[in-house]
Amino acid sequence: MPIKVELADRLKSLPPYLFARIDEMKEEALSKGVDLIDISIGDPDLPTPAHIVDAMKKAVEKPEHHRYPSYAGMLSYREAVAQWYERRFNVKLDPAEEVLSLIGSKEGIGHIPLAFINPGDVVLCPSPAYPVYSIGTLFAGGEPYFMPLKEENHFFPDFSSIPGDILKRAKMMFLNYPNNPTSQTASVEFFKEAIEFAVRHNIIICHDNAYSELYFDGKRPISFLEVEGAMDVGVEFHSLSKTYNMTGWRIGFVCGNKEVIAGLGKIKTNIDSGIFQAIQEAAIVALRSDEGILDDIRSIYQERRDILIDGLSSIGLKVNKPDATFYIWAKVPEGYTSESFTIHLLDKAGILGTPGNGFGEPGEGYIRFALTVSAERLKEAVERIKKAL
Ligand SMILES: *Cc1c(COP(=O)(O)O)cnc(C)c1O
Repeated sequence: MPIKVELADRLKSLPPYLFARIDEMKEEALSKGVDLIDISIGDPDLPTPAHIVDAMKKAVEKPEHHRYPSYAGMLSYREAVAQWYERRFNVKLDPAEEVLSLIGSKEGIGHIPLAFINPGDVVLCPSPAYPVYSIGTLFAGGEPYFMPLKEENHFFPDFSSIPGDILKRAKMMFLNYPNNPTSQTASVEFFKEAIEFAVRHNIIICHDNAYSELYFDGKRPISFLEVEGAMDVGVEFHSLSKTYNMTGWRIGFVCGNKEVIAGLGKIKTNIDSGIFQAIQEAAIVALRSDEGILDDIRSIYQERRDILIDGLSSIGLKVNKPDATFYIWAKVPEGYTSESFTIHLLDKAGILGTPGNGFGEPGEGYIRFALTVSAERLKEAVERIKKAL
C-alpha cells in the first residue's frame, strides 16, 4: 500500500505554470512532424569555445580535483573573477571576501533570500522577470512585491510608486540589466537612484548581470558595482553561462558587499559542496579568454538581431531594437493577447516564442523571441510570420 505523498504548501502555493499549455502544443506539433522553429529558449545554440573545452579535458585528469571542492570556490577562480571585474568594469574586488562561486547564478539567486528573509519580509521583484527572484523569495517564506517594468518608464521600476507599508517590510530587491525579457540596459543614473533608495530604506540590492557581455554596436553595459555606493548596499550575480556558451557547465559567481556574500556563503556551506574543481579550472581559462572570442560570439547574435528586427518591423510588428541580451521583446499585433498570439504563431507558422505574461502580468501584450537559432532559420521565421499575419 503506497503512502500518500503530499507536496509541501510552498510548492502548492506556486503560481500556475503558464507555459504548460504551450509545452503541450509544442509536443503535439513535433509529433505531427511540424518543422518547428523554437525561439522560446534562452540557451545559446553555439558550442563552448574549444580552448575552454580543452582546459576542462586537462583538468579532469588531475586527481586533486576529484575530491570535495572548497565551499567558496578555489581562490584561483575567485582571483580570476576579480581580475576580470577589474579589466572589464574597473571594479576592484577582494577575491577572498568579496567573491563567491555559484553553481550557476540561478543557484545563488534562488538561495539568497534564505540568508536574509524572514517570514513576512518583503522582497521587491521586477515584473516581467526571470521567475527565480520571486520563487526564491516564496521558498524562504518571504513575500514578493512586484514592481512593474513599463515601456513608458524604459522598463525601469518606479520606486516612488511603492506603498509605504511595503517599504517598511522590504529587506531585499532584485534588479536585472541588461534585462531578461525586455532587453533594456541600465544607466548610471538609474543605478544611482536605486542605491539612494536602498540606503534610505535599508534594502539589500541583488543585481543580476548575466547578460553584460552580450551587447551590440559596441555599447558595453555597465556593472552595478561600478556605481558609487553600490558595494555598501548589495551584490552582483554573474555567470559564465551566456557569456561563454556554458549554460550546461553550471558555474557562476556573486560579488560585492562582504556581509551579503558571507550570508549567502553560510547558506551554501550547509546545503551544497561547491563546484567540481575541473570546471573551475576551465572557467579560469574562460575568464582570461582573448576578447576576440567574445567579439565573434557577439557579431553572430548581432547579425541575427538585425535579421529579426528588420523582418518583424517590415511586417508591421512593434519591436525594440536591443542594445544587449539575445532577446527581442515585441508587442503582439492588435487583437491578440500574449497567449493567443503565441498559439497563433505555433499553429499557423510553426514558430514558438514565449508569451510575455509568462514572465509576470505586466508582460501581457508582448512576446519574447530568443536569438538562439541560426540566421537562416530566423529569415525563414520572418517569412512564415509574414504569411501567418
Ligand atoms: C540565464 C539567466 C541567468 C543565468 O543562469 P545560470 O544559472 O548562471 O545559468 C541568470 N539570470 C537571468 C535573468 C538569466 O536569463
